[in-house]
Amino acid sequence: MEDKLDCTEQLRQAKIELQLEKERSDQLEKLLNHDPDTGLKQRHILVRRINRLIMENRSRFAFGILRLDKHYQRIRHTRDRMKVLLYISSERLKPITGENNLYQSDRSDEFLFIIPDYKDRKDVENQIEEMIIKIKEPHNPPASDISFGCNVGVALFPDHANNLEELEVNAEIALGIFKEKNWKGSLYSPEIGRHYHENQSLESLLRACILNNFEGFHIAYQPIVNRNKQLISCEALLRWDAPEVGVVSPARFIPLAEESGLIIYLGKWVLYNALRQMKKWLEGKMKNLQVSVNLSTLQLEQDDFIETVSNALKSLELPGEAVHLEITESAVMANPELAKNRLAALQDLGIEIMLDDFGTGYSSLSALNQFPINTLKIPKEFVDVLPEDPHGLEMVRAILGIAKTFGFTTLAEGIEQQEQFDCLIGEGCQLIQGYITSPPVGASEFEERFLSGSV
Ligand code: C2E
Ligand code: CA
Repeated sequence: MEDKLDCTEQLRQAKIELQLEKERSDQLEKLLNHDPDTGLKQRHILVRRINRLIMENRSRFAFGILRLDKHYQRIRHTRDRMKVLLYISSERLKPITGENNLYQSDRSDEFLFIIPDYKDRKDVENQIEEMIIKIKEPHNPPASDISFGCNVGVALFPDHANNLEELEVNAEIALGIFKEKNWKGSLYSPEIGRHYHENQSLESLLRACILNNFEGFHIAYQPIVNRNKQLISCEALLRWDAPEVGVVSPARFIPLAEESGLIIYLGKWVLYNALRQMKKWLEGKMKNLQVSVNLSTLQLEQDDFIETVSNALKSLELPGEAVHLEITESAVMANPELAKNRLAALQDLGIEIMLDDFGTGYSSLSALNQFPINTLKIPKEFVDVLPEDPHGLEMVRAILGIAKTFGFTTLAEGIEQQEQFDCLIGEGCQLIQGYITSPPVGASEFEERFLSGSV
């Protein structure tokens, strides 16, 4: 009897031990395989799954990367807040991907996912779109002041790759392309791959030319005139005649330079050379000419940017009043606090600030009022439809009205026709830039055509 009791007790103890052992191993498994913040399975589990799927080679699947965008990165209030928002994002994505198909990447701002046995490209594209929309949805208080989006890149097995490495590379390429302006797709395609490789070689050439004493670069100047077509200032625009490739449009190489950070060197070069040119022209009889130089966000964000500009002015003994700096509305809004401080410091040097492409970004009127700005540039796309298009005219009138309220100067660009010129001047626009006067031309042609007799 006693023996039997002993046996039952031993069995009970053993069961408890086993249960505890299982719990410990579950916990260990969770710790090893799951992300502590989101609870999602980690990348190495996905790698195992993908390798298995590839080995079996029985089904097709899509592999994707979803990276939260720079607005998420800028949430630096507390790390805890970032973790909560990461968790919320994962919860939003789970119903779309299915809990088992969503994984935490090694990066803390990124998810990985697979779509097993997708039907067709459309099926994949629909899911991508759903994910993008879901991440963008507003957050509840206390995070309701925060909004961010994401970039997605997806590659298909076996259409785009037949191993994990290639899948990851192609998904990353698709993600990079997705960030490029006007490129809608985030699903890899051979065309996207080709575009990426062309960009890569152009970027290498850009780097090599910069290192080779800015080989092939020069600055073109476009006149800016008043209502009487008298020359007031000019915009400095960078040109690149690349060795063996020929002329590359700024619309192509400037975004590459911005993406790679090379714009910092190019921007500095443009600034120094445009100011040097201005010094030469001002030493002639042209006493009131000014030059506008384009700035990219990255330049403005450099800690030594104000010092660079101030040193350039000092070394050339040039007054700040001879210089205008142009920055786009979206560049300002990318980091409004920093932009506000830096632009004010530039104004303290006597430099005027122009807001480029005004009306194409998303700054609110109240934000506009807070920024140290002198001039609004009305973009070509609004001017193109003048004078016939009533909607375009309303748009231009609205910008001119805002400028009047805040005391900004107005400059319309891309004016090609006399009717556009007359319409804008009639509506009260103060300055005009466009092919109607001249396209951007090299320094010596500019001097000959616009400064002869005065230089
Ligand atoms: P943006 O600052 O908006 O410059 C105005 C663009 O409009 C220039 O193109 C100019 O050539 C063009 N344009 C001016 N008037 C007319 C016109 O009547 N008709 C037409 N069709 N076009 C006109 P561009 O030189 O190709 O420059 C393109 C963009 O590249 C610039 O746009 C600017 O964002 C960027 N960029 C050029 N140089 C620099 C630079 O030194 N630094 C930076 N950060 N960006 C630059
Ligand atoms: Ca400009």
